[in-house]
Amino acid sequence: MSAILLSLLVLRVGSISEFSWQTSRLISHLTNGPETREPLRFLEELCDDYGPRQVGSKNLEKAIDFVVKTLRNDGFDNVHTEKVDDLPYWIRGEDKVEMIYPRHHKFNVLAVDGSPSGFVEAEVVVVRSYGDLTRISYSGKIVVIAEPYYNYGRSWQLRSAARVLGDRGAAAVLLASAAPLSLYTTHTGSGARGSRIPSLSITTEEAEMLARMYERKKRIVLRLDVRSREMPYKTSSRNVVFEIKGSKKPKEVVLISAHIDSWDVGQGAVDDGGGIASIRSAMRAIRELSIEDSRFRPERTIRGVFFTAEEQGYMGARAYDDAHKDDNIIFAAETDMGAFRPRLRNSTFRFMGDSRQQRKIEAIAAQLTANQIPMRVNYSDAQGDVYNLAQPRNIPAVNFVPDKGDDNFYFRYHHTAADYVSVFEEGDLEYTAAVFASLANVIANQDRW
Ligand SMILES: [Zn+2]
Repeated sequence: MSAILLSLLVLRVGSISEFSWQTSRLISHLTNGPETREPLRFLEELCDDYGPRQVGSKNLEKAIDFVVKTLRNDGFDNVHTEKVDDLPYWIRGEDKVEMIYPRHHKFNVLAVDGSPSGFVEAEVVVVRSYGDLTRISYSGKIVVIAEPYYNYGRSWQLRSAARVLGDRGAAAVLLASAAPLSLYTTHTGSGARGSRIPSLSITTEEAEMLARMYERKKRIVLRLDVRSREMPYKTSSRNVVFEIKGSKKPKEVVLISAHIDSWDVGQGAVDDGGGIASIRSAMRAIRELSIEDSRFRPERTIRGVFFTAEEQGYMGARAYDDAHKDDNIIFAAETDMGAFRPRLRNSTFRFMGDSRQQRKIEAIAAQLTANQIPMRVNYSDAQGDVYNLAQPRNIPAVNFVPDKGDDNFYFRYHHTAADYVSVFEEGDLEYTAAVFASLANVIANQDRW
């Protein structure tokens, strides 16, 4: 964008430009100041000491206790948890998938969330595309869907295939993992709840091997021993809430969020521990600067929410919406596409709301860009957790998608045993925190939002 265009934009949205010095201060406080090492230090403790945080696990509830204690020590207002009941309770077992004919091979598998247990020994049919199943008979067979990765939305649909194929007589389903790039990596995720047959992801390498053998007309027999199962009762968890109380309009809430639960493999660092650490540091930076300089004291309340049970289908966010119908939430944002430092120009705020608010978000994005944090704004209702509260109430919302938060990077690690703290590079969490601190600070202090 040219300098003239940029200044015109800043003029048009008027008051946003008043905050440019605060945006720069927040960014340097987080990326080159007192808060610089803190988000990674916190993430390491969360991930290394508590492990992955699957709904129903002790790990998750202990991690929530640790986060609440940390937020209280940080000095935030109104730190508390809100219980979320009636959550599905599915436990991964020691699942085995072996080829027993024409040779022995043990597969690398991860059952899909909700998959029932079962012992199956059967011949396979393999399709390269889900649509090809309409042309073949698969009754009594193990169906292998070796469809190449297209995008995550498509992969999510494929993970629910077992529900339909089970009703049509298939014995089990094996899916090529949702992996844009694989180093023999399996990916789990939701999709098989309600299926009567086992459903598991295998590596794309193994899916392709089976496809090649099948196309050479080899007879292939697999043996599945699936121990993963849904418990006959429900479980519960908690959303975590903390605030910086507004000095002038405390009832108007600027909500920024991430999700605290994860899958049971890896450490849940990329999905979404990095988001948790970044949102906390964003609010720490605003709070710390407000102690030094009262101009940083937000006029509206800034509320951090760490939703639980995102992975089972935004269940924590839905419960939060039900419990907070009367809250005056004026803006909601979330980070769940990787808390990576925006480096390239395709780093995006996915924005949902009216055009006047979009111009304000564009002005904030321009301020970030002027501070070497490239950011653009795309209209999109792909909002994740916050969609559930923003859409029904017409609340403007932003979903942060850094350039690495896409198929080329984020989805390599998403829902895998490789989702470790090690994925992050220096600066990732600090710059993500800077993005959210800037957003929350401007919106909490705008005269007219
Ligand atoms: Zn996530």
